[in-house]
Amino acid sequence: MGALPDPAPVDLHAHTRASDGDLSPADLVRRAAELGIGTLAVTDHDTLDGLPEALAAGAAHGVRVIPGIEISVAVSRGMFHLLGYLPGPAPEPLATRLRELRAHRAARMERILERLADLGAPVRMEDVRRHTDGTVGRPHVAEALVAAGHAASRADAFERYLGEDAPAYVPHRGIGPHDAVRLVRQAGGAPVLAHPATLRLGTRHLASTVASLKHAGLVGIEVHRPEHTPEQRDAFAGIVRRLHLIPSGGSDFHAPDQRFELGDTGHPPLPSRTADLLFEAIGEGVPSAG
Ligand code: AMP
Ligand code: FE
Ligand code: FE
Ligand code: ZN
Repeated sequence: MGALPDPAPVDLHAHTRASDGDLSPADLVRRAAELGIGTLAVTDHDTLDGLPEALAAGAAHGVRVIPGIEISVAVSRGMFHLLGYLPGPAPEPLATRLRELRAHRAARMERILERLADLGAPVRMEDVRRHTDGTVGRPHVAEALVAAGHAASRADAFERYLGEDAPAYVPHRGIGPHDAVRLVRQAGGAPVLAHPATLRLGTRHLASTVASLKHAGLVGIEVHRPEHTPEQRDAFAGIVRRLHLIPSGGSDFHAPDQRFELGDTGHPPLPSRTADLLFEAIGEGVPSAG
């Protein structure tokens, strides 16, 4: 008997123009098909708007598209993003709650633009919105800053103005970590902590935070990401093992010109059964394809 063929790669974290990705949902899924990716979760920031188009493209191109979300969670330091893998493209009460959270995001964006004006780097909201079909975020402000000549590059814009330690930074408000986890579960979804390193906690404090999120219903954390060092991967894998969680991950693909390609989940790559394990962990079984 010959060796079994390698299962198709799986990527459970990717963005479209519905938030801060560069590709339309259909183009993202087409790229996944071209790269031989078998399962792709579409996880835009705070919106479900890209999902119907992505699901239709998945059916057309033979890619299993998993509807997802990446929720911006309010924390006093660091960046907390919660991924949710969902039973469909508009599960309640998540869909309704996201519409409320969008008002917080719009208000935050106004405050960021006020600060930029005070700092002598004014940009207009219409110039920020030009860079997205949906959710506005700091990456779009960064592009507007570059276009206006206030920053040399996106990285420079984050460094000088928009990063967590920079003067125009305004934190997210709207939903806290435990409520976000419970919201995804109430919608029949599987909550997973994205890029644990951005919480900026030491391994010990991270472990206790993750343990308390598990009580609220968290089922996994991202371990397999292309930018993780072996030390980070091992530290997060250790937390997963101790707390009986599922090691998840993805490329966090935003644009074709960025450092990591769609489907790149680091070494070793994300195990192909991960999506099924996540849905099994919430007792939902696997949603049917399409
Ligand atoms: P926001 O939701 O408006 O806070 O924007 C968060 C998004 O900004 C993240 O999902 C990344 O895509 C991007 N981002 C955050 N920090 C940086 C950084 N230092 N450099 C470049 N992009 C960043
Ligand atoms: Fe992003
Ligand atoms: Fe994120
Ligand atoms: Zn992301």
